[in-house]
Amino acid sequence: MSATLIRGKPIAERIRAAVAEEVREIGHIGLVTVLVGEDPASEVYIRLKQKAAAEAGIAATDLRIDASISEDDLLAKVSQLNADADVDAILVQLPLPDHIDEARVIRALAPAKDVDGFHPVNAGQLYLGRPTLVPATPLGVLAMLDEHGLEIDGARAVVLGRSAIVGKPMAHLLMQRNATVTVCHSHTKDLARHTLDADILVAAVGVPAMVSPDMVKPRGVVIDVGINRTEAGLVGDVDPGAAEVAAHMTPVPGGVGPMTIACLLQNAVRCARYRRGELVYPS
Ligand code: NDP
Repeated sequence: MSATLIRGKPIAERIRAAVAEEVREIGHIGLVTVLVGEDPASEVYIRLKQKAAAEAGIAATDLRIDASISEDDLLAKVSQLNADADVDAILVQLPLPDHIDEARVIRALAPAKDVDGFHPVNAGQLYLGRPTLVPATPLGVLAMLDEHGLEIDGARAVVLGRSAIVGKPMAHLLMQRNATVTVCHSHTKDLARHTLDADILVAAVGVPAMVSPDMVKPRGVVIDVGINRTEAGLVGDVDPGAAEVAAHMTPVPGGVGPMTIACLLQNAVRCARYRRGELVYPS
């Protein structure tokens, strides 16, 4: 029997409608996206984020900065945005040009305006299990599991990938929800030994179809975060044939992809509530 497909679009649409409702209630949410240089992929992402924010009623400013800006000038720009009372949320699109230290720029953001949840203070809050700004993609994965009523508490979860924007925050979120979590990476030996045990398998490696059907636990849940551009088009990290083994699986495209922007907008609302004192930023 083929797996039930967990599609992101309808869930993302519901989240975006709920965000629009919250924006109406709050009145004004100011988001500034910062794009340094002209990386074509980053331009596409910024356009999508700007459009989604505007559709939700968020006042989104598209700040474009020449690639030649010095690191110090960019840091000064970030402090200016931190201090701007009209700005609730700031997003610095990565990657930054090579002469700029990305970690320094992210560290310069006010943690409560860090809509991407990349600031080390936010990463630390997540590690400590405190409610905070969390990267949007793993938040989206949790929302998909919840939407389909899939049990996380007590489940064996295996996360493939340990990046700071997907794998690590994913593992922490699942652990917070009482899953027993294993994190695998490029040095993991005998990957299938781990994946075959996964009630919930989250693949975020960036290797096309790396997870073959025989690596998936029968009737398990498979979440494919991977977005890989190949000659055959967009493919995930999981071979689509795994849908014949799993009970639930996300398609690529149309799975996790749409969730990321929806959850980013949710984070913008969280930033606005912090600034208005309606939510307390964890001390
Ligand atoms: P990174 O390249 O930052 O991290 C990849 C991780 O996968 C690393 O931890 C790496 O291990 C691990 N890995 C790589 N190859 C293997 C292997 N053969 N076996 C086991 N582990 C391996 O990628 P991201 O986390 O940024 O992204 C992962 C995927 O998710 C990409 O396809 C990306 O496009 C997609 N993505 C999708 C999003 C969405 O909105 N749906 C958003 C963000 C990302 P090690 O640490 O040892 O190097």
